[in-house]
Amino acid sequence: SEEQLRQSQKMEAVGRLAGGVAHDFNNLLTVIGGYCALSLRQIDEAHPLQKSIAEIQKASERAASLTSQLLAFSRKQVLQPRVLQLNEVVRGMEKMLRRLIGEDIELSTAFDLLLGHVKADPGQIEQVIMNLAVNARDAMPRGGKLTISTANITIDQKTHFRNRTLDVGDYVQIALSDNGVGMTEEVKSHLFEPFFTTKGLGKGTGLGLATCYGIICQSNGDIRVYSEPNSGTTFKIYLPRTDAKLEPTANPESGRLPSGY
Ligand code: ADP
Repeated sequence: SEEQLRQSQKMEAVGRLAGGVAHDFNNLLTVIGGYCALSLRQIDEAHPLQKSIAEIQKASERAASLTSQLLAFSRKQVLQPRVLQLNEVVRGMEKMLRRLIGEDIELSTAFDLLLGHVKADPGQIEQVIMNLAVNARDAMPRGGKLTISTANITIDQKTHFRNRTLDVGDYVQIALSDNGVGMTEEVKSHLFEPFFTTKGLGKGTGLGLATCYGIICQSNGDIRVYSEPNSGTTFKIYLPRTDAKLEPTANPESGRLPSGY
């Protein structure tokens, strides 16, 4: 649709701009950070400028991390699709996710044990899940519950959702639900735009969901959001199911005969 086209053109423009600027910016930030460190060493520990310079240093570190996010965003990442079982992808991330969301948020999983396979880039799918988990965490500052569930879904009639269409077919769905602050209609309408954030200066980059959107679209899937202020948010991701079987996991030893044969 026209809206999709505009969105992807915007992402591409942002990506190109960001990639060009971010590289030069990183060099400048290295210089700023370097001079801060040098100055801190040259002045007395009790000098009144200590605190100010330390603040400059902190800000330049924060800027450096933002530019590296921009670089990652703009890099045309080559997809390396593989046949995946999303239950396994989530299981592999559980420990990391628990650490990420902290002790005040409970992580619960509900796997469809007969879940079909999808063809997608595992690293990118992990990134999508992580970005959504970070947002869920930020939406539950006083704790709560994050639920990750999977299911086989059959779409038997073309469905439209916010200008995107899901074709008839078999899909694997993965949903992340939180019981956090939720979103207003206004926030929802800007959600997947690059640089849209409500997290305030120095906190959000507004690239998390734009990145998710790009990855899921490239994987021929869809991402949908259901959210109400004060009751929570659910993101549902749909990826086309594939009949292909799981490839044996990449193991450098496999296919090679043990020595002596
Ligand atoms: P960022 O996290 O840097 O702000 P995102 O693109 O990931 O960028 O998110 C954009 C905005 O969408 C957030 O600032 C927030 O307002 C809203 N948002 C995303 N996920 C959630 C959620 N689970 N609950 C409430 N608001 C959310």
